[in-house]
Amino acid sequence: MKKNIRQPGDKTEVICEECQAVRKATWNYDNYLLDDGTVVKEVMLAHCDVCGAQAGLAQQSSYLIRNAREKNKRRDRTTITLSRPLRDLAETRVFKAGSSSMSAVEVILLSVLAVLREPDRREKYLLKIKTLEDKKLLKSGTYSERLPIRFNRTTAKLLEEVTAATKLSRSEFVRRAILLEDNLVNEHVRTFTLV
Ligand SMILES: [Zn+2]
Repeated sequence: MKKNIRQPGDKTEVICEECQAVRKATWNYDNYLLDDGTVVKEVMLAHCDVCGAQAGLAQQSSYLIRNAREKNKRRDRTTITLSRPLRDLAETRVFKAGSSSMSAVEVILLSVLAVLREPDRREKYLLKIKTLEDKKLLKSGTYSERLPIRFNRTTAKLLEEVTAATKLSRSEFVRRAILLEDNLVNEHVRTFTLV
């Protein structure tokens, strides 16, 4: 009889982002970390057999992620202004996010904030954000795109901290977040686009 759900020990094949290769993987229940810091317990995840990284999320668990995100919906809102090129870049970076409840710009902002949440990385990344000054894209176009951004209380607090530390407005911070592209940030972006 065909099993309809994944069970611990079941095997699969995934593209492991960590190994950058197709790998055999094993399903098991594990904690899944949302980028706002929420831990979702007992999510069915495929772990790469080579490096152990979480490399796949089972359909059967997607309701858990959805519920956890739903719970975080009591969110603040703000409107930021962007230029068309920056908006285009954000959408291009996370084109898969269209299917999620978040906009591409929200995905990137939360991904950058997720990196900044790690105390040993914060200083380095705040400096990176501050020194984006010369990026051409930051100055091209007019800031004609008005975009609502939603976030929960934890994120609001963090955003407040980092904008204060960098002396940037929320909009300016978001614009720079869109330009901040490296493996660490992209890793977080991917976790948003898994489901
Ligand atoms: Zn791997």
